[in-house]
Amino acid sequence: MYKDKIKNLVEQMTLDEKIGMIHGAGLFRNAGVERLGIPSLKMADGPMGVRAEFHNASWMSVGLTDDYVTYLPCGSALASTWNTELAYAFGNILGNETRGRGKDMILAPSMNIIRSPLCGRNFEYLSEDTYHTGEIAKNVVKGIQNNDVACCIKHFACNNQETERLDVDTKVSEKTLHDIYLKHFKTVIDEADALGVMGAYNLINGEKCCESKTLLNDILRDQWGYDGLVVSDWSGIVTTKGAAEAAIDLEMSVHYDFDNYFLANPLKEAVEKGEVAVELIDDKVSNILNVMFKLNMIENTEKRKSGAYNTLEHRVMAKKIAKESIVLLKNDANILPFKKSEVKKLLVIGDNAERIHSNGGGSAEIKALYEISPLMGLKSNLGGNVEVTFARGYTPKDEKHDSEISWQEATMEEQKRTDDSADADETQRLYEEAISLAKEHDHIIFVGGLNHKYDVEGLDRDEYELPYGQDKLINDLLEINPNMVVVMLSGSAVNLTSISEKAKTLVWSWYAGIEGGNALYKVLFGNVNPSGRLNQTFAKKIEDYSSHSIGTFGRKDFVEYLEEDKVGYRHFTTSDIAPLYPFGYGLSYTTFEYSHVNVLEKNGDVEVSLVIKNTGDVDGYDVPQIYAEINGTRNLVGFKKVFVNKGESKTVVITVPEKEFYKYSVENKKYMMLDKVTSIFVSTNAMNDVASVKL
Ligand code: BGC
Repeated sequence: MYKDKIKNLVEQMTLDEKIGMIHGAGLFRNAGVERLGIPSLKMADGPMGVRAEFHNASWMSVGLTDDYVTYLPCGSALASTWNTELAYAFGNILGNETRGRGKDMILAPSMNIIRSPLCGRNFEYLSEDTYHTGEIAKNVVKGIQNNDVACCIKHFACNNQETERLDVDTKVSEKTLHDIYLKHFKTVIDEADALGVMGAYNLINGEKCCESKTLLNDILRDQWGYDGLVVSDWSGIVTTKGAAEAAIDLEMSVHYDFDNYFLANPLKEAVEKGEVAVELIDDKVSNILNVMFKLNMIENTEKRKSGAYNTLEHRVMAKKIAKESIVLLKNDANILPFKKSEVKKLLVIGDNAERIHSNGGGSAEIKALYEISPLMGLKSNLGGNVEVTFARGYTPKDEKHDSEISWQEATMEEQKRTDDSADADETQRLYEEAISLAKEHDHIIFVGGLNHKYDVEGLDRDEYELPYGQDKLINDLLEINPNMVVVMLSGSAVNLTSISEKAKTLVWSWYAGIEGGNALYKVLFGNVNPSGRLNQTFAKKIEDYSSHSIGTFGRKDFVEYLEEDKVGYRHFTTSDIAPLYPFGYGLSYTTFEYSHVNVLEKNGDVEVSLVIKNTGDVDGYDVPQIYAEINGTRNLVGFKKVFVNKGESKTVVITVPEKEFYKYSVENKKYMMLDKVTSIFVSTNAMNDVASVKL
């Protein structure tokens, strides 16, 4: 559409101007060409909101008070709503705030597959499943790009661990790569016209992703026909020639020496020596200009949307998303929801009740306008007639920050986990305090889990177990008061096996954004009927995950994805391993009954209809899920979040387009109908089928 205009602009540019377009001239922008009316392209992190303003050439934040933003629930939280309309609303807020802050591209959503619960960035990621990720991410992207800003889907591809993330070589078969690790990227490009893609740090089969001809030239551009902008992860490019020849357009890095980026002076020299053809640079500039035209940055600037940040509407929506993200794992004795009138004294135990999470996690950190902690949510909503006592119970060691070197630069060095438990005396004191207070309370809520020392960019967890001795503390507290409600707050699965055996009530929450504590209050006290469903399998032990048993995880030199497509529930279902809580699982304060299941084939598409009856006492959402058996393996191919009033029956129709049954053909280099779909399952989660229909 803009071809001639782009050609015309490129023809007028000097080599220096072209080169200025394709590398960072600041930590989050390129140079632009003012003379030709081309502004610089401004980018910002990240997936949970627009990151604070940094100096152009230093990782110090500017430090003003005008860059506070709406802190959105993390990726795992959003995906656990299983609500595609909320995904759009989430993206719309993110895009609106990006534009409001004067940026052009938001470095989001993060959409790598959760291959192991120990990956440090799982909280940013959406799901262990490619279809689920694709459905959520494409709606986020549509929402973002509704605001005249570009998304930047990341990290392309296989950034499934943080250990040695800059150098680790992922060995993965071509088929698995496409079926499990790439398909959702293609979905978002095809169905949401994603304008930006970020190349990952790691290597795939020996090629650095940001310089990979296989990944970028052959797959992304040639096979998929992608004509958007490809930006490197910050310092993801390591050679001039490699990056020049690969279909990557913009080099970004963590260093400030902009003129010496690989695609800066070294590239100019290579062109002058005749080692790199200038046409390669023209292609990169053209791709960037194409996106800038689409965003109304070069012409029609008066029509460009202006955005806004920190609006009341954004906060209301962030709360709605948080409410729908909370997963009720167990409620055996119907202790929840609490009745406000029956609670006179409440004991809240646990560091996460009081911890602020928005300012952590790595590049996803947010300078939140505020963050309602669980304790704040409980106290402010319960009011003065309820006596709320807080006991920390456990705590991490206070951290000293090294102000000389920024977090972002430090992640370029090898990361090591240090023990962050508080000293033994303090640990014992907190333990005893919690135990003794527990003896005096009938109503107790424990709020524990992980924090951003564990759910963090640049580091994987060493263990599946809960940190800071929480297992023992929770078990001991449950001995004293078996009715204690256990709330876990984390971005990734943890080992809940012993707690789940003992606790009658278990609630799973996430880094749930600006209004997280209010959302949690509403679920615990029944103003909201929980409707979240897990975005990942919770195994009984770490070895039950395929990446830890069949495959490899967290190795330094290379990781081999030996488990092939048996990632997440695909492994648990085919190997017949019972997880603690399966993918797609979540309870409600009401119950649903499925009937009249009908499966119709229509020119390759499959239409599933069913009737859902709400058989309990409260209105609520349910999430019927459709799985297809293809070649002996189960695949999620459809889902719908539906609201059913108590006593009501609702007919639900879920159409699964034929393409959802496609798998990658190595021979034909495309997704196509390879194997027949043998069965369709209508399920409440990956391991619980209500009906199965043979095709
Ligand atoms: C992260 C990216 C992020 C970039 C810019 C990198 O360390 O991997 O996700 O967008 O930094 O901050």
